Amino acid sequence: MRCPKSIPLAKPDWVLTAIRNGQDEILSLPFRGNLSSIAETSSPRSTMDLKAHIRDIPDFPKPGITFRDITTLLANSQALCHAIESLAEQCAPLQPDYIAGIESRGFIFGMPLAYTMNLGFAPIRKSGKLPAATHSAEYELEYGTDKLEVHQDAFESGSRVLIVDDLIATGGTAAATARLVEMTGCEVAGFGFVIELLALEGRKKLPQVPIASLLQY
Ligand code: AMP
Repeated sequence: MRCPKSIPLAKPDWVLTAIRNGQDEILSLPFRGNLSSIAETSSPRSTMDLKAHIRDIPDFPKPGITFRDITTLLANSQALCHAIESLAEQCAPLQPDYIAGIESRGFIFGMPLAYTMNLGFAPIRKSGKLPAATHSAEYELEYGTDKLEVHQDAFESGSRVLIVDDLIATGGTAAATARLVEMTGCEVAGFGFVIELLALEGRKKLPQVPIASLLQY
C-alpha cells in the first residue's frame, strides 16, 4: 500500500485567512497539515523566483569557481517547498519507483522528494560508508578519481530509479550513479537537479533519459 501523500489538513478559518494573506508565519503556528497543502493553496510555484534564493560565492572552493550555494534556498520555507514541489511535478511523468540521492546534497533534495512522490529512497555514498554489500563505480575528478557506492539490494530488481542531486556540473557524478543503478539490475528513469551549469554540458555524459533541472546558469 502506498502511503498517503498528505496528512488531511484541518482548515480552521484562521489558517485559510493567513494563507490567503501570504503570511509566512503560518508555518510557525501549531499547524498539523503539510507543506504540499500550503503550496497548493497559495500557489507559490507560479510566482516564485527561485534563483533569487541561490547565493553565489565567487572563488569557492578555489579561484575561478562560482559556488552555487543552496543553503539560502533551504533556509526559506517557501523556496524549499517550491523547489521540492516543482521537482515532483516535473519528475512525476517519469513514473519512478525509487529515488537515488547522491551524497550529500542529493540527500537534502532527494529525501523530501521521495516523501512527496510516495517513493522509496536509497543513498548513493562515497566509498566505504555503506555497511552491507555494495556495487561501486569510479568517476573522474579534476585530479584523480573518486568512487561512489550503492547497496546491492537498494532497489527491487527491474525498478525505475530517478537520480537526484542539487547540481549538475560536468556530469561525472551523475553518470557514475547511473552506472550504479544499472548494476543493481534497474533502469534509470531520469535525473532531477535543482541547478544545471549549462556551459559544462554535463547532460552529454548521461544516458538518453529525461533530465529535469529547475535553474540553469
Ligand atoms: P559534476 O560531477 O561535475 O557534475 O559535479 C556535481 C557535484 O559537484 C554536485 O554534487 C555538486 O554539489 C558539486 N558542484 C560542482 N560544481 C559546483 C558549483 N559550482 N557549485 C556548487 N556545487 C557544485
